[in-house]
Amino acid sequence: MADERPALPPLRDVIVRHGLAASKALGQNFLLDEQLLDRIAAIPGPLKDKPAFEVGPGPGGLTRAILRAGARLVAVERDDRCLPALAELADAFPGQLTVIAGDAMQVDAQAEAGDGAHIIANLPYNVGTPLLVGWLSATWTPLPWWSSLTLMFQMEVAERIVAKPGTDHYGRLAVLSQWRSDARIAMKVHRSAFTPPPKVMSAVVHITPKPAPEGVQLKMLERLTAAAFGQRRKMIRQSLKALPGALEALVAEGIDPQRRAETVSVEEFVAVARRLSRD
Ligand code: SAM
Repeated sequence: MADERPALPPLRDVIVRHGLAASKALGQNFLLDEQLLDRIAAIPGPLKDKPAFEVGPGPGGLTRAILRAGARLVAVERDDRCLPALAELADAFPGQLTVIAGDAMQVDAQAEAGDGAHIIANLPYNVGTPLLVGWLSATWTPLPWWSSLTLMFQMEVAERIVAKPGTDHYGRLAVLSQWRSDARIAMKVHRSAFTPPPKVMSAVVHITPKPAPEGVQLKMLERLTAAAFGQRRKMIRQSLKALPGALEALVAEGIDPQRRAETVSVEEFVAVARRLSRD
């Protein structure tokens, strides 16, 4: 273990020494509590010698925790100011860390991190949801290229990802997150844990993929949920009018068209999408 725990300077010192004043535009809210960071890095399970991918390492707090856990990590950071601090971390953990300077939205994470990678990140709020949707939309054969997602979101987004039917937060993101994955809130994180503290609370969501239900096209599920939740307060009979065949598929599945989208379970959406995928 000793070689995996090199002595590192406190994160506050790293921030001061490299002049890493937090940028709001880049969604920078840093985590400095190393015990908390080790707990986040433990959420995916043992990482020793496993591939991992991090978006936005910043000064490297979560990065060091992932490296201490023994992962082979690829990290993508858009803020060039952080690169010298990350280069120091790469030296402290020889052969374990590759830093890519760039925009995570433009990087091919699978090509860079490799199949089976655990994705772990304290995500910048402005690209968190599009990145999640991108990973959820990967090809499943029968599983996606990534092994798990361990992602910090603003609490409201975390609640939308794990929401159950009949609740206010239930919508497209819940269905797309849960139809072939298990999604849970693994940890709630108080705003005071961040530097600077954001306005709202945060939570770490842990997502593990399951084999996809057979015969369902993702595109069809996306169209179905877009139509259904486009008018979430209306009966689905009304909101699905724009999608040819949807009403018939709904009835064939024994789903009452007078219900509202927010009461339709993930399994029911999947069954309707399967019927529509056949046509
Ligand atoms: N991982 C660090 C931590 O937990 O303390 C920093 C997290 S901070 C919430 C988000 C990080 O993402 C910042 O370092 C920011 O510069 C970086 N970032 C913002 N947009 C990015 C993008 N499009 N691609 C890669 N990194 C980005």
